[in-house]
Amino acid sequence: MSHSHAMALLGFIIAGAVAGVFYGWYAGEAATGIGWLGTLFLNALKMTIIPLIIASIISGIGSIGDIRQMGRLGGTTVAYYFATTGIAVFIGLLVVNWIQPGAGIALTQTEVPERILAKQDTGISDIFLSLISPNLIDAAAETQLLPLIVFAILFAMALTTAGDKAKPVFAVFDGINEAMMKLVIWIMHLAPVGIFALIAARLGSVGGGEQFMAEIKAVGLHVVTVLTGLLIHGVVLVLIMLFVARRGFDYLLGMARALVTAFGTASSSATLPLTMECARENKVDPKAVKFVLPLGATINMDGTALYEAAAVMFIAQAYGIELSLMQQALVFITATLAAIGAAGIPEAGLVTMVIVLTAVGLPLEGIALLLAVDWFLDRFRTTINVWGDSVGAAVIDRLT
Ligand code: ASP
Repeated sequence: MSHSHAMALLGFIIAGAVAGVFYGWYAGEAATGIGWLGTLFLNALKMTIIPLIIASIISGIGSIGDIRQMGRLGGTTVAYYFATTGIAVFIGLLVVNWIQPGAGIALTQTEVPERILAKQDTGISDIFLSLISPNLIDAAAETQLLPLIVFAILFAMALTTAGDKAKPVFAVFDGINEAMMKLVIWIMHLAPVGIFALIAARLGSVGGGEQFMAEIKAVGLHVVTVLTGLLIHGVVLVLIMLFVARRGFDYLLGMARALVTAFGTASSSATLPLTMECARENKVDPKAVKFVLPLGATINMDGTALYEAAAVMFIAQAYGIELSLMQQALVFITATLAAIGAAGIPEAGLVTMVIVLTAVGLPLEGIALLLAVDWFLDRFRTTINVWGDSVGAAVIDRLT
């Protein structure tokens, strides 16, 4: 896609998002009537994900070939993920200790939803178990991306040892990848309408602007805390982009279509196809696009990690429970793991927060405090998740 074409599309996408906020705000419930347009866009994106990630990872690893270079790429990628997720959690803890959003919050006795109760026995071992699926078709049917990614990596590594026999297989996946990227460009043109509808319908489903403001006000400082933390981390990532990846602001602009889509869909997985296409247009090395971005969309979630830490501290403050430095260190570690374990789908972070709460012995009911506004904060943290992956691809491109 040419630069001017891409910028025009970005303009339409932003206009769609803004119009969606206005329409949902004022039309309220009635705005849910156009929700199907958003679903259509979302489904089109999701349709591409499974073939896209499998083909991109296999063809990406195929283009590396040399096992040592692969180790270097993998090592740098994982180091980047951990470093930035750690920074994010740290910022979350700083901001929440500074603003103290939970002090003076009235505890509500809302029911904890079934989807969270069902996860109450989730432990850290489940994160490791989620890496491998006994049934790939099952995993694909449920869009569990992580086991598919692990399989694609192992498959491609095995294939690199097969010499000449491997060549046509890699060529096939390369071709599939090219076709999928083309499809993504077509689907991208639906984004202005799709994002308009997704935002309008979501805001409409809570009853429009006034209703929404009332819900935000109930936990206002929590919202301020999370948004402040996410903003600070977003800026840190910009600095990493400038000084480590050595990219200019045009990189941010080039990734913006994916970032607005992340905001509109609240799903890093659904946004992944656009993230990959934008990075490709920004001349990020294909290896980084094909390998770093799919993996990042599922395990590198800076925004979610920051949110988990800030939200758990908020709950502790609301219950009047003082967490010691040791316990906050535990929050640091488990929030990182919970973010890795969260799938790139809407409000997944809220569910994996159970891991953090149980680690420091806080009541699960605390989650009830966050329910009303989680969908809203989810959009911002997903945007930061995708921004973290985008900067990651540029960094890995630079360093390997
Ligand atoms: N919705 C987020 C994502 O897809 C995950 C979460 O924090 O709930 O990246």
